Amino acid sequence: MKIGIVGGGIVGVTTGVVLREAGHEVTIFSRDPHTKTTSWAAAAISCPVSVEDSPRVNRWFAQTNAVLENLQGETRAGISRIEWRKFSVYKDCPTLSWMDHMQGARLLGPEECAAPYHSGVFAPHFQMVVDLYYPYMLARFKDAGGVYEIKNVEGLEALSGPYDVLVNATGVYARDFVGDESVSPASGQVVIVKNNGVTHHSTAFETKNYIYPRGETCLLGGSFDPGVWDMKPDPALSRSILDWAADYEPRLRNAEVLDVRVGLRPLRPEVRLEQEILTDGTVVIHNYGHGGSGYTLSWGCAFDILQMLQSA
Ligand SMILES: Cc1cc2nc3c(=O)[nH]c(=O)nc-3n(C[C@H](O)[C@H](O)[C@H](O)COP(=O)(O)OP(=O)(O)OC[C@H]3O[C@@H](n4cnc5c(N)ncnc54)[C@H](O)[C@@H]3O)c2cc1C
Repeated sequence: MKIGIVGGGIVGVTTGVVLREAGHEVTIFSRDPHTKTTSWAAAAISCPVSVEDSPRVNRWFAQTNAVLENLQGETRAGISRIEWRKFSVYKDCPTLSWMDHMQGARLLGPEECAAPYHSGVFAPHFQMVVDLYYPYMLARFKDAGGVYEIKNVEGLEALSGPYDVLVNATGVYARDFVGDESVSPASGQVVIVKNNGVTHHSTAFETKNYIYPRGETCLLGGSFDPGVWDMKPDPALSRSILDWAADYEPRLRNAEVLDVRVGLRPLRPEVRLEQEILTDGTVVIHNYGHGGSGYTLSWGCAFDILQMLQSA
């Protein structure tokens, strides 16, 4: 089939890879270069966050993890298993819904938590280093014969003629693109610093902060501001992110700042993964609204789309 994908974030690109490698003719249209998307700002840990709690999310998470497991040997892709810990200052932290679906995930004992923390969760999550993984996925798509074009698409009708199927992967911009008011942004800012020997991936229940080392660099988070569309970095927020990180891990004090990124998580009560037939008969498959889990769910959602096309 001839397929047009609107959206070149990680959701659109992963869908493009899966459909192209299955033999379809695929063009991706992205209004923005990849370094200006929300996907570029992500921490990219494979873990369901700020997304519906449902059996299908757990399935998509497992499907993505199965692909990442196989891709670990591909050094260009920047994927590794990490020892992820989320701490709480309280005696009993909450359990997280995905823990039952992930081998090796468990509660931490108090002896594994340093003051001021008393409880926590451990999980052997996958981390994708965005600076490697996202370009790897784009290159994989193009190398397979996929076409990637920087182009603003005015609406689905503007593309419908030459394509058998359109995929809408516009993330938070689906609000305007298809008038879906149930999707809204939660902006998030991260600071990337030079890594001074930190190897532990740590975050906490009672704050939005995290420290995710990635070899030579360390990604420091974060923030979660619902309703905010502004993608301009906030220097005061960067300062507080850096201060939290240095208090938690003194080796990060005065770490050299390499980059500051802001993205808009596409929040939606449920991920929209469904087919719609436009009045002119064009088949559209919507694939957006992944909240804080676009990387986590990307492969699973793309496999569902492939299955929809095969059974059409
Ligand atoms: C700080 C932060 C940390 C995060 N951490 C994680 C994490 O650890 N794990 C995880 O899984 N997720 C994480 N996320 C969430 C993840 O980044 C998003 O869920 C994901 O990037 C959404 O991808 P997307 O492709 O749907 O959207 P986007 O990356 O926003 O891409 C949308 C695409 O649509 C294009 N577009 C929009 N309108 C048009 C148009 N009219 N014509 C043409 N193109 C158009 C844009 O140009 C862009 O290419 C994080 C997000 C943030 C901000």
